[in-house]
Amino acid sequence: MHEVGIMQNTLSMALKQAQASGATQVHELRMRIGAMSGVVPDALTFAFEVLRKDTLAAEAKLEIETVPASCWCARCQTEFPVPDLIYECPQCHEPSVELRRGLELELVSIEVS
Ligand SMILES: [Zn+2]
Repeated sequence: MHEVGIMQNTLSMALKQAQASGATQVHELRMRIGAMSGVVPDALTFAFEVLRKDTLAAEAKLEIETVPASCWCARCQTEFPVPDLIYECPQCHEPSVELRRGLELELVSIEVS
């Protein structure tokens, strides 16, 4: 389950930020997860609940924002959504090779006190 590794990195990043700002408690972590990142949000939440024990984030909430996948069509110069792994422009039916969104895997912000 690679969600554990991802959560470990994210949490340690958040804790470092919290410590650097002199916080004594982390209330919330916000993450952005792309639909194509291969990460299961539930697995991430589960990993978080295990890993947060005995840290500044022991009482923290994890908010996950999922980003739908979208591709770029070079011919039409538009971005289009990719609902079912069909990388084809709905206007010109050109297959796209450029995934613009959906691979996000990042810590957006933390709330501390
Ligand atoms: Zn197109």
